Amino acid sequence: MQLPAVAVSQSPEDKFREYLASRSRAQRFTDQQRDMVRFIFSQHHHFDADQLIDDMKKAGFGVSRATVYRTLAKLVDAGLLRRLELGPRMYYEHDYGYPQHEHLQCGQCGKMIEFQSPAIEAAIEEVCRQHQFHATGHTFIIRGACAECNRARVLKRRLDLI
Ligand SMILES: [Zn+2]
Ligand SMILES: [Zn+2]
Repeated sequence: MQLPAVAVSQSPEDKFREYLASRSRAQRFTDQQRDMVRFIFSQHHHFDADQLIDDMKKAGFGVSRATVYRTLAKLVDAGLLRRLELGPRMYYEHDYGYPQHEHLQCGQCGKMIEFQSPAIEAAIEEVCRQHQFHATGHTFIIRGACAECNRARVLKRRLDLI
């Protein structure tokens, strides 16, 4: 499930180029990095570094592991991607041009359901205010079983009883 995109003035590519140029030691926007940014922003999903390397290889791109890891960190720093800690693994998803949202994660099929909740956002703001805490981000994930997996489980239980 995908939420509607947020209008942005710059393409992710231009925003990243600007970020690299604004570093205290300006960095070059390499062809590998350009391929990566284009690839990542051509589809919305939650991915980890290994998956991205595999998918890019399958699509015919040659990117080194080291470049992927370094570039992912820079894309987070530049505000293009956000990190999502899911158990022991670090996942990434679009932040630039995409609304703030939370996740439901199905432990059976791995599906990630995105949702927005003004009530949760308000509660987080309120807690931060109480602690005079300046938040830079958060990860809020509800784990469980999705509707489809639940239906499958109930069905299986019924069949087991017959
Ligand atoms: Zn599921
Ligand atoms: Zn998401």
